[in-house]
Amino acid sequence: MKLIKKRNCPECRSEMRPKLINLHYKKEDSDLQVEVIGIPANVCVQCFYRIIPGKVAKYIDTLVDPFYESQKHIHEKVLPTPHIDIQFPPLEKTAYSY
Ligand SMILES: [Zn+2]
Repeated sequence: MKLIKKRNCPECRSEMRPKLINLHYKKEDSDLQVEVIGIPANVCVQCFYRIIPGKVAKYIDTLVDPFYESQKHIHEKVLPTPHIDIQFPPLEKTAYSY
């Protein structure tokens, strides 16, 4: 089963291509920033609209949410809020392309 299916951009109808992208998480009520590196996604060649497969998005939420949750339990700031990088090992192109 391929992670990413061939489809056209829902925004501009152009062709989409499978690519590895990075996502930057930032929430209004927190200083915590999380960078997720190497996510397979469908990216529009024209307008760069990105679609992350549902299962992948869900998995990333599962990884990132506990970091934000942990901040709620910190009542004394011993150190400044960190920036967290989550890096996936480089995926073989065949693992996510069509
Ligand atoms: Zn587009």
